[in-house]
Amino acid sequence: MTVTPDCPTRYPATGISVLIVGAGVAGLMAALECWRNGHDVRIIERSSKQVTTGDSFTIGPSAIRTLKYWPKMVEENEKIEYNPTISFHDLTGACATAPKHINYRQGRDSKNEPEQVHRHWRPQFHNMLLKQLSAIGIKVEYGHGAVDYFEDGPAGRGGIVLKNGDRMDADVVVVADGVGSHSTSVTMGRDIQARPSGEALYRTAFPVEIAMADPVVRERFPVVQGKEGPIELWAGEKIRFVIGRTADTMSWTLSHKASTIIHPWAPDYTSATESWSHNTDPDEVLKITETIPDWPEVANRLIRLTPKNRLLHFRVMWRNPQPRWVSPAGRIVQIGDAAHTYLPSSGNGATQAIEDAVSLATCLRMAGKTDAIPWALRIHNRLRFVRVSCLQKLGLLDRNSYSRAPSKGDYTLKRIQYLMAEWIWGHNPEEYAEENYYKVLDHLQRGTPFRDMNIPRGHVYRDWTISEISSQQERGEEIELDGEWD
Ligand SMILES: Cc1cc2nc3c(=O)[nH]c(=O)nc-3n(C[C@H](O)[C@H](O)[C@H](O)COP(=O)(O)OP(=O)(O)OC[C@H]3O[C@@H](n4cnc5c(N)ncnc54)[C@H](O)[C@@H]3O)c2cc1C
Repeated sequence: MTVTPDCPTRYPATGISVLIVGAGVAGLMAALECWRNGHDVRIIERSSKQVTTGDSFTIGPSAIRTLKYWPKMVEENEKIEYNPTISFHDLTGACATAPKHINYRQGRDSKNEPEQVHRHWRPQFHNMLLKQLSAIGIKVEYGHGAVDYFEDGPAGRGGIVLKNGDRMDADVVVVADGVGSHSTSVTMGRDIQARPSGEALYRTAFPVEIAMADPVVRERFPVVQGKEGPIELWAGEKIRFVIGRTADTMSWTLSHKASTIIHPWAPDYTSATESWSHNTDPDEVLKITETIPDWPEVANRLIRLTPKNRLLHFRVMWRNPQPRWVSPAGRIVQIGDAAHTYLPSSGNGATQAIEDAVSLATCLRMAGKTDAIPWALRIHNRLRFVRVSCLQKLGLLDRNSYSRAPSKGDYTLKRIQYLMAEWIWGHNPEEYAEENYYKVLDHLQRGTPFRDMNIPRGHVYRDWTISEISSQQERGEEIELDGEWD
């Protein structure tokens, strides 16, 4: 294997073989971090080649700080990240609040310096991880979709069955295959029921030149420079329209609710699917916007400019927090969206996927040998579950803000304020795993108490379900957040 000089120093080899299923953000980061932590890595992906679609996401400091070990990625990340500003508007496009940068907030008594929020275009971030993987000599094996999972406890192996019937195995199988993973049949013993949230999103991103070719669009959404990334959030009766742009990319998202469609000829909400590859025609969106009073023509022009092969109609699904990510014999583990799906409003899908990858690779290093893997996976699961479940809950705040236009003045969604808290961005998943590995081992094996330190201070976690929270919201009650969430 040829490794370029600007790669990190590897920990001594552990002899642990890791087979990763899925080359999304979680899978690629797990491959890199497992390599850095001394494990042997193989990674497979269902698609026949690199997938270059997707729009933008936020990757928080808790995930980005791991890049410090990867000098080439630090360099590239600085080029591709951008600094969003956010402004709130009504559905005519009229501005209610001036554009503002979003900053993480410092916790009480903290000496950590809060940073500005950065966003990334998914294809660029994904490409950066892939290039780094190739630089350490690991190639994604494309066209390999896992259809089933198995494990052999006594032999200490986990494995997958491919579509063509071939089998692959390793000391540990890391399932990073995204939302709706079939692997829950082996971790939870059943498939997880996903429930429609009643919301669907039309979402797209495309080269900014396509939008700038229209003079009306160009005048309303002028070209931006450098790292600028204005985001306009238009909200009103059951609709939200978000327009984002940077120097090279234009994007928009129209979120609508099942009950939005009032004309029989308008598109059916149920035509949306929970898929990142199912495209739809922009004309479909115009059938919705023509039902919105005073909807501006410039927004329709932007929608019409969208390339036909770049528009997703994504149905947002709900899943209850799922506490068990590890198979009974401890040879298969889920990470990223396969373990915990987030509503897009959580702003945490990619960040938590990366934190998972770092935590898992560290726990496997702490295990140090193959027969300790089952406990390493259970420890990783215990270190991570309560934190991701708290963050899933935050994505459910403000759901009623759909039904009203933003108020004038200094208006920010409550959810955005909470998501800026230090317990979220200040976390270091590698250090946390190192510091707590043996405490959690004791906790799991002997029942000694363990207190989560990567969640809001003072919060006492109890299991919750989507039904419970949505009934509370229907009754007009606030979601209960005990402890210091902000
Ligand atoms: C094409 C694409 C575009 C996306 N665009 C956005 C976006 O614009 N904004 C946003 O917030 N989030 C987007 N996401 C989701 C976002 O990347 C994830 O929420 C987050 O990064 C967590 O990543 P993940 O690796 O767990 O899941 P994902 O990023 O979904 O990656 C899962 C990977 O597993 C592969 N896979 C699935 N099933 C199998 C199988 N059986 N065998 C082998 N491989 C399999 C998939 O092809 C995919 O590459 C997108 C995901 C994808 C796949």
